[in-house]
Amino acid sequence: MNVNEFFNINQNLLELDKIALDKCTEQFSHIESTTEYNQLKVLKAFIDNGVSESYFTASTGYGYDDRGREILESVMAQCMGAEDSLIRHNFVSGTHTLTVALFGVLRPDDKVLVLTGRPYDTITGVFGIDGKTDGSLSDFGVKYAQVDLLADGTPDLKEIRKRLSSDKYKMAYIQRSRGYSTRPTLTIDDIEVLCNIVKEASPETVIMVDNCYGEFVEKKEPCEVGADLIAGSLIKNPGGGIAPTGGYIAGRKDLVEKCSYRLTCAGVGKEVGATLGHSRELYLGLFSAPHVVGEALKTAVYTSALFSQLGFEVSPRTDEKRGDIIQCITLNTAENLVAFCQGMQSGAPVDSFVVPEPWDMPGYTDPVIMAAGAFTLGASIELSADGPLRPPFAAWMQGGLNFHSAHAGVLLAAQKMLSKIKGE
Ligand SMILES: *Cc1c(COP(=O)(O)O)cnc(C)c1O
Repeated sequence: MNVNEFFNINQNLLELDKIALDKCTEQFSHIESTTEYNQLKVLKAFIDNGVSESYFTASTGYGYDDRGREILESVMAQCMGAEDSLIRHNFVSGTHTLTVALFGVLRPDDKVLVLTGRPYDTITGVFGIDGKTDGSLSDFGVKYAQVDLLADGTPDLKEIRKRLSSDKYKMAYIQRSRGYSTRPTLTIDDIEVLCNIVKEASPETVIMVDNCYGEFVEKKEPCEVGADLIAGSLIKNPGGGIAPTGGYIAGRKDLVEKCSYRLTCAGVGKEVGATLGHSRELYLGLFSAPHVVGEALKTAVYTSALFSQLGFEVSPRTDEKRGDIIQCITLNTAENLVAFCQGMQSGAPVDSFVVPEPWDMPGYTDPVIMAAGAFTLGASIELSADGPLRPPFAAWMQGGLNFHSAHAGVLLAAQKMLSKIKGE
């Protein structure tokens, strides 16, 4: 371990670090194997589609006949095991991308059934289930229903089957990642079980998966186990830390086409959209994504090992199967949470000198603290952590473009926290 050539980590912590790394051996080799598989899958998609350097040139105006854009969408479709895709820099966020997919497919009086409990915070506004309905799906007459999760945080399969057989739903909506909740993330196997139930009970229902944080974590993607449509953000996994902004939608050709009419306009769809010189970053990011996701997964596994050595509750556990790159650590006190985030910030490549403090973020009931020293604003494929200042004072941590650097960041977070506890 070379860390003390550059940083000053105390001996006790370095000993725990060694134990933690030993505990990661099995998971790391599992991650390596998934990374290699997905990297070859992506390489093959680039080769099969004949990606050429000439595709990186910028188009302007309408962007008609932008070969680079068209081929990238074909490469992305192949990577996601889908028939077609949209992958664009002008999706402004993951929420926007999911919104385009939802509005692309749903029509007035259609019913949506969410199979995985209350959706991610920003998506509740899109469905219009929070009272603020202006511009939401509910404002346009789309009906919302939700099957709550069971007490252990897993989907209520019996209730899902019952609801789908007793009423007609246009869409069944699945959120793969835990987001910032305490429920377990769905694995691809879990998603397959849900897809099979939907297809059996209601074959016409469109299955949509919010795939945020899940891309390249396993060897299969949701479309390969029955999902009809998926969407995600390019400043998370599939942008590989290189895409500066954007999102993607992938799935059945007819559904992707409907989404393209919402992204641009009916009749024109995906034939337009100037790339302005961003194609190279989107190609390079997608190519790097399997490796970067592997590094983020190693960071998550290592963090769970180190903090369980330190006596904290972690989720997922070190040896648990993962469906996304998120690691939750229960830090028990406000001081710990603040020190953890400040320590992590101090080990970031960008803005390491900034000391984050809790603040009243709009839309949240408790103050929130965030550590993020990233090249791309808000990128959560880069090492970042945050949490609301309320019991049990949990930190949600994700990302890490490379394990060596993220490893140091996590050690600095642990050290800062331990020095606070000991009052040093
Ligand atoms: C990140 C995320 C989104 C989209 O969030 P943006 O911040 O808008 O990119 C949606 N759902 C889940 C589960 C997410 O993790």
